[in-house]
Amino acid sequence: MENDTILVINSGSSSIKYKLMNPETGEEIARGIVEQIGEARSQIKHVYHDVEETMVRSVRDHLEGMAVVEELFEKIGPSLQESHVVGVGHRIVQGGPYFSGPALIDKNVYALIEELCPLGPLHNPAHLKGIDAAKRILPKVPHVAVFDTAFFNHLPEKAYTYALKRSVAEKYRIRRYGAHGTSHQYVSHRVRSILGTDDLRQIVLHLGNGASASAIVRHHPIDTSMGLTPLEGLVMGGRTGDIDPATVFHLYREGKMSIDEIDELFNRQSGMKGLTGHNDMREIWKLIEAGDEQAEMAMEIYLHRLLKYVGAYWALLGGLDALTFTAGVGENDPGVRWELCRSLAFMGVKIDRELNEEHFTREAIISTPDSSVKVLVVPTNEELAIAQQVYSVVKL
Ligand code: ADP
Repeated sequence: MENDTILVINSGSSSIKYKLMNPETGEEIARGIVEQIGEARSQIKHVYHDVEETMVRSVRDHLEGMAVVEELFEKIGPSLQESHVVGVGHRIVQGGPYFSGPALIDKNVYALIEELCPLGPLHNPAHLKGIDAAKRILPKVPHVAVFDTAFFNHLPEKAYTYALKRSVAEKYRIRRYGAHGTSHQYVSHRVRSILGTDDLRQIVLHLGNGASASAIVRHHPIDTSMGLTPLEGLVMGGRTGDIDPATVFHLYREGKMSIDEIDELFNRQSGMKGLTGHNDMREIWKLIEAGDEQAEMAMEIYLHRLLKYVGAYWALLGGLDALTFTAGVGENDPGVRWELCRSLAFMGVKIDRELNEEHFTREAIISTPDSSVKVLVVPTNEELAIAQQVYSVVKL
């Protein structure tokens, strides 16, 4: 129905982000975040229409966090009980081999998400806390899991299989699962709609703090850069992306680092942050302008990896029709778009310098009419994509 709403929840280890969405119109009705859960001074923000309420208070755990969220909906609006919430969508990072679409969270699905915790140790335990907490405040509506891995569940076997001893890979379920799938699916769908055809070979570059690339033919991905976990692939804000796995042996043997320390180093202290001290591209461009050579090299490393993936996917696709930028960097960083496309000029890629300068809150084609490939910027909207998927499940 027209006024049905979906509450979308993204629960991390120390935060809960939420949005109340209308899945049919795409309207964002309210949103907010509870951060630094478990610390003495948790930061809380709730936005409804023009009202933005922020506060700092101690929030012990996710249960208390969701109780605060419920209070804010009552106090600032709109009341959850009166908002016609027909479903709650939970973003889940690791769906393992089990899920290729959204799933109603019953006992069985809950147990599978739990079983997958070893494959998503940084995320799945936090998602379960989010589910428990949200079920407390909305016990009567269906809760649905939307998996970051689902879109890549049917990758070709040759793309998802690592050349690792088969028995070991099978025992520990080691394969490429991918991540950011909801975004790649949503953006590639928008591109088909903008260009008015399904018959496309696409590369989607989701460049945010986390970053991933995917190669898609018609409706199906044929490869993606994130792997068993979101660590593999492109250079990211704080993650290494591709690195020789033997580095782990070396740091363990020679550096006497523990596995947890190496995990922290690769997942949080590396990437652009490890190279420059900053994970935000805006800071890195400022350093480059000020003549900082390390920042300049970090940008070259970032672009070099990006170009390598685009070239590899172009070959896998056997040609390219559309190249699309999305997420924080993809939507807002004309420098990254310009430099990458300049390196692809030898393949006939050409973008319009002026159009490219925009910070995109809208979908746009930024290639020139004579470009060999359409180049687009499509703002991702993972919450809307989740809300739509949840609606498709609960509407039945
Ligand atoms: P997340 O992976 O956390 O969802 P986002 O997609 O929101 O990340 O992207 C956040 C990143 O986007 C920032 O760390 C920053 O590098 C980049 N970014 C945001 N705005 C700009 C901008 N105006 N110019 C360049 N980069 C930007």
